Amino acid sequence: MEVKVSDDCSACGICEDICPEVFELGDEKAEVKVNPVPAEYEEKVREAAEECPTEAIQISE
Ligand code: SF4
Repeated sequence: MEVKVSDDCSACGICEDICPEVFELGDEKAEVKVNPVPAEYEEKVREAAEECPTEAIQISE
């Protein structure tokens, strides 16, 4: 799994709350710390994508 954060991100921090192993809040948007996503975090990354209020988290398998 690969994950990207688009410019639609509003820097709300929800993804970092859900999966801090992969997402880190930067100055203007969330950053992805590790790509491809380790298998053990894939479920949490999917949850973060569902919870993201701006649908900024883009997953490709
Ligand atoms: S949950 Fe979405 S809008 Fe919020 S910081 Fe993460 S990517 Fe950005």
